[in-house]
Amino acid sequence: MILEVKNLSKTYGKDQNICHAVENVNFKVEEGEFIAIIGKSGSGKSTLMHLLGGLDRPDSGSVFINNKDLYTLKGDNLTIFRRQNIGFIYQFYNLIPVLTVKENIILPVVLNEDKVNWKYFNSLVKKLNLKNRLNYLPNELSGGGQQRCAIARALINNPKVILADEPTGNLDVKNSQNVIKMLKYYNEIYKQTIILVTHDENVAKKAKRVIVYEDGEIKSDTFINN
Ligand code: ADP
Repeated sequence: MILEVKNLSKTYGKDQNICHAVENVNFKVEEGEFIAIIGKSGSGKSTLMHLLGGLDRPDSGSVFINNKDLYTLKGDNLTIFRRQNIGFIYQFYNLIPVLTVKENIILPVVLNEDKVNWKYFNSLVKKLNLKNRLNYLPNELSGGGQQRCAIARALINNPKVILADEPTGNLDVKNSQNVIKMLKYYNEIYKQTIILVTHDENVAKKAKRVIVYEDGEIKSDTFINN
């Protein structure tokens, strides 16, 4: 098992304004799974993703990644663990605007003070069609290009898990399909574990397991053959 969520809860506000964004959520993820968490806007998906990635802390419960209890880690230890084990992909890409495509992609390696595996880097930029854009700044790329750059950055450290929060939310249909195709490729060929949040059924259908999330709770959890 690569990830385990145990009795996870997080509320916002109190009394009559209380909002249960995550309410006693439990699930397990095996290495190589491709999971879509689908739910309406406001159902608590982003809150859940932030908790899975250690970007936020719950009121109660735990998340284990690679058998490590995430919330026992603090400060630099948490930052380093996150960088080595989790790749993040966001709706608005979150690339560093003053760094080139190449610098953005290798940033997690540089921050880890590791050596870049240029062979792997080259295979990523070739597959993600960024080879001729390495010296561009992010805003010189299309939305699809920026997201492909963010995918390369998320993959460069060979993370245990990729967490993607609405990765196609800002893309047109063609680029959206391409981004999902790339994620599927890395899931199928490299057994990369992916957890993706979306409100788009067409995106969710491409995953191997679909968790329907509503008002902070898992309503259904289904493995699909596709
Ligand atoms: P989703 O990603 O499914 O749209 P969110 O996790 O962003 O859902 O939000 C779930 C609920 O929690 C929403 O009702 C939202 O208004 C509320 N919420 C999210 N973040 C905060 C916050 N920092 N403070 C108060 N309420 C919040």
